[in-house]
Amino acid sequence: MRIESWVVERLDHPMVLLTRDEEPGPGEVIVKVAGCGVCHTDLGFYYDHVPTRHPFPLTLGHEISGTVVAAGAGAGEWLGKPVVVPAVIPCGTCAACQAGRGQICPKQVFPGNDVHGGFGTHVKVPARGLCLVPDLGNAQINTAGLSLEALAVVADAVSTPYAAIMRAGVQAGDLAVWVGVGGVGGFGVQIAAALGAAVVAIDLSDDRLTQMASHGAALTLNSRESDVKTLRKKVREFADARKIPSWRMKIFEASGHPAGQALAFGLLGPGALLSVVGYTASPVEVRLSNLMAFDAMAMGNWGCLPEHYPAVVDLALAGRISLEQFVDRRPLSTINSVFTELHHGSARGRIVLIPEA
Ligand SMILES: [Zn+2]
Ligand SMILES: [Zn+2]
Repeated sequence: MRIESWVVERLDHPMVLLTRDEEPGPGEVIVKVAGCGVCHTDLGFYYDHVPTRHPFPLTLGHEISGTVVAAGAGAGEWLGKPVVVPAVIPCGTCAACQAGRGQICPKQVFPGNDVHGGFGTHVKVPARGLCLVPDLGNAQINTAGLSLEALAVVADAVSTPYAAIMRAGVQAGDLAVWVGVGGVGGFGVQIAAALGAAVVAIDLSDDRLTQMASHGAALTLNSRESDVKTLRKKVREFADARKIPSWRMKIFEASGHPAGQALAFGLLGPGALLSVVGYTASPVEVRLSNLMAFDAMAMGNWGCLPEHYPAVVDLALAGRISLEQFVDRRPLSTINSVFTELHHGSARGRIVLIPEA
């Protein structure tokens, strides 16, 4: 099958549109891309020289939805099906996978990192782990107005905070604090609120905070205006007013910036939990002993196990979290200018690149 995709040939050069031929092998499928979201991680590979596991030339993009148009041996059941492709596809059989730790599977496939990704007309991926999307009808839109292309963001921006929230054990009545509420963090706010947590959103952008105030955040704080101490005081006042003890506080760092990470760590109190969801190559200085003194916990989260995807798609299709207002559709051919735009500023929603017909 003829596939056209935008390829990073070498760093610090614009991506180029190239053609290649691929056929699905056993257990593989080819997905015709409906949409592919642009993630902070793509920018890290492209601008910050975070090494991809497969060397360049490589097509980036790991936030993919689409329709299966070709299937290899053993994957025929997927033909014609609308799907979301998990950003991290564990092998399912190694010791880590057997132990339920597929996120660290050494044989995992991460499109746009291990193999060519979704910034193209099609992408070849393993069939295992694909998330079936219910039939959206002839118009390819469900009753909540959701389309298959918007569901691309489920592949990473929505499923990753969902996984972090599940692993942190967020329950109704907990306090969830999200530091950085662009893409991933914005969906994290919505998911935590949908689960019944009281949610605090912290960001540098008033625009994003205003949007989160109407999408689940009970308190919004601009970190540009206050230091860590003041922010911690405001979060504690909020928790006290709601009689939420500090051991029910779950802090999620999604800004992927050193200042955001230092702030998130600085919010820890007795028995609280910190989950690191964003990435930066820069180190931060923290007093690690706070974990000991507070009997607190810190953890990281890489992607989301494929088995959680159907629950995430259900949340979206049921309208319990809104995607459409947070999705900014752009033609795939504008990929180079979109990367430049994201590198120099921040988008209000998640940009999803749509291949032209
Ligand atoms: Zn990502
Ligand atoms: Zn594995």
